[in-house]
Amino acid sequence: MRKLAAGNWKMNGTLASLAEIDALLGADRDCEVLICPPATLIHPMVARIAGEAVAVGGQDCHAEAKGAHTGDLAAAQLADAGAEYVIVGHSERRTDHAEDDASVAAKARAAHQAGLTAIVCVGETEAQRDGGETLDVIARQLAGSIPDGATAGNTVVAYEPVWAIGTGRTPDNDQIAEVHGAIRGALTARFADGNDFRLLYGGSVKPGNAAEIFAIPNVNGALVGGASLKAADFAPIVAALDAA
Ligand code: PEP
Repeated sequence: MRKLAAGNWKMNGTLASLAEIDALLGADRDCEVLICPPATLIHPMVARIAGEAVAVGGQDCHAEAKGAHTGDLAAAQLADAGAEYVIVGHSERRTDHAEDDASVAAKARAAHQAGLTAIVCVGETEAQRDGGETLDVIARQLAGSIPDGATAGNTVVAYEPVWAIGTGRTPDNDQIAEVHGAIRGALTARFADGNDFRLLYGGSVKPGNAAEIFAIPNVNGALVGGASLKAADFAPIVAALDAA
């Protein structure tokens, strides 16, 4: 299994920001590196990293292949721009755009049809964790958000506790291990290659906590928001994953 360090730039970055990725180029590493910039930067980023072992992805796609959906992008359009991955079901999409598990699954299916690898995000809110519902919430999101036909080759699962995103707070190592173990169990129960799916942890991953998180069983990489915006932060996270 090839570990994956994925950066989610969210609604940050302009053409000038492309310089940040230069520090990630030219390295010989075992893990895979992915940047998901705003859609406006996908094509210029692909052009800038041509021939380099860094992949580019989208942050969302529409479930339909084309049509009257002003402002949306089809998975095939992301692929046409050079994307290889797309994030679906990020908690900010689930909250800001009222996306439910069924719509996330439809987007993942669209991604697969366009030849993209879908990064399906799941995660509990703080109230759900405090209420002891975490594993039930994760099981429900996995069952509803990952479409039939998913494989280890076309799907990555990211566990992102909503309360850990952008807050500087993280679950403790046992809590991450518990959820990642449960995700692994659900995937192996449902898919023949469930053992081979890459499981990412996401939520306030920083250079200072990356190595510790990457040592947790069933953590096969990270989805990184804020710390992916600057190479000075993201490069050490990538290095920690490569060394794990
Ligand atoms: C994210 O939004 O996917 C994320 C993990 O953000 P951050 O690393 O900033 O918590």
